[in-house]
Amino acid sequence: MKNEKEHNKEHNKELFMVEAVIGVAATILVVFVVAVSALLMSERPVTGVGLLVVSIVAFIIICLALTKMEQIVGYYECAECHYKNVPKYRTVLWSMHFGRTRYMPCAKCHKWSWQKKVL
Ligand SMILES: [Zn+2]
Repeated sequence: MKNEKEHNKEHNKELFMVEAVIGVAATILVVFVVAVSALLMSERPVTGVGLLVVSIVAFIIICLALTKMEQIVGYYECAECHYKNVPKYRTVLWSMHFGRTRYMPCAKCHKWSWQKKVL
């Protein structure tokens, strides 16, 4: 029998996998739709622009939802004091990042650091 902590960790890993798959699929789709709309521009400009706008809006919504998912799954660990916390959505959304490591202020020591995602 696995304990609850291990179970949660595995569950979170699965959620990250789902997030990555949705992210990659959405990116492929938006690249494809942008290419199609570019081809349509000369023949049917209204359809081309419409398709472009709709696909970009949909892509932004997907990105916002995936960021929400990243925010609530697991914790971010402060590089300075190692305090683990779940920051506000706004903080996560507007922070610089490489993958899931984000440059944010710590909720405990208030120092800015590259906070790693921990499950
Ligand atoms: Zn800290």
